Amino acid sequence: MDIADLSERILKGERRALARAITLVESGRADHRAQARELIEGLRGQGREALRVGLSGTPGVGKSTFIEAFGMMLTAQGLKVAVLAVDPSSARSGGSILGDKTRMERLSRDPGAFIRPSPSQSHLGGVARRTREAIDLCEAAGFDVILIETVGVGQSETVVAEMSDLFLLLLAPAGGDELQGVKRGIMETADIILVNKADGELKSTATRTCADYAGALRLLRKRPQDPEGYPKALTVSAVEEHGLDRAWDEMTALAEWRRETGHFAGRRAEQARFWFEAEVREGLLARLRREPVKGAMAALAQQVEAGEISAAVAAEDLLETYLGESAPA
Ligand code: GDP
Repeated sequence: MDIADLSERILKGERRALARAITLVESGRADHRAQARELIEGLRGQGREALRVGLSGTPGVGKSTFIEAFGMMLTAQGLKVAVLAVDPSSARSGGSILGDKTRMERLSRDPGAFIRPSPSQSHLGGVARRTREAIDLCEAAGFDVILIETVGVGQSETVVAEMSDLFLLLLAPAGGDELQGVKRGIMETADIILVNKADGELKSTATRTCADYAGALRLLRKRPQDPEGYPKALTVSAVEEHGLDRAWDEMTALAEWRRETGHFAGRRAEQARFWFEAEVREGLLARLRREPVKGAMAALAQQVEAGEISAAVAAEDLLETYLGESAPA
């Protein structure tokens, strides 16, 4: 594959080149990996910056309906919108529910939009890296807004929050008891809570739910990356396309404030560091599972089992052999 040519076409915003490049970064083959690295590094520093928006919500809350309506609103304003997905369930089922072709059908036909389902990977760490690289590629291709969608299960919310400039939590209208079900940690990562389905019979419940969440958000510790009044809770109706413009106004206002105060760049820098450290950890673990460490570990494990050497000493020996002298604990 001609990486220089691919790179050039991505910079021109060619969709097919972008799709091909994402397939390349998703590949597990060593030669593809080398090309992907060359491509990603070559595209670095183009000075293009999209607004990366994470969106989480349980199945059925209306994510695809929201993304479609919201995405179409943005493309109508002339913005280029990319939609990526982090779907931990794809690891289990082998196929992505977010890859369902019937989802976001109108948006997928919109020339201003680019939709990419979640890569099917065996573990979240692999999905995370591929999604980050896909974000880099979309950014290089000149997209203005990148929506990163995830179903709120397991660690996927944290993963998406760590690659987003803004993090949205989509919730359904609910009774007071269900309110407790939203984990505090997720409330703390959310920049804007959107209570969807604020229409028809659900409208008054949605308004009440939104007020409850707004109250809960006010009880959270004030974060330095927020101006007065954030994080916020708003009601929207993805179906009636109501409140979407307000949500966008709040998002852009928050992003603007963070840009002016340096928190925007600061957050990206922190995220880069977070992912660097995560990659080092992952890489170390991967090496443990490969030769020669794997064999040495198995041999030492036998000695530990036989009571010939203590677990701690065996571990220290192994780490010293492969990582150099260990620091005193
Ligand atoms: P996802 O699983 O989070 O992607 O949810 P979907 O977008 O597939 O929506 C799940 C169901 O909720 C569908 O039947 C939608 O029509 C419905 N839904 C989504 N948004 C709204 C909304 O704003 N109002 C109402 N009343 N229903 C909605």
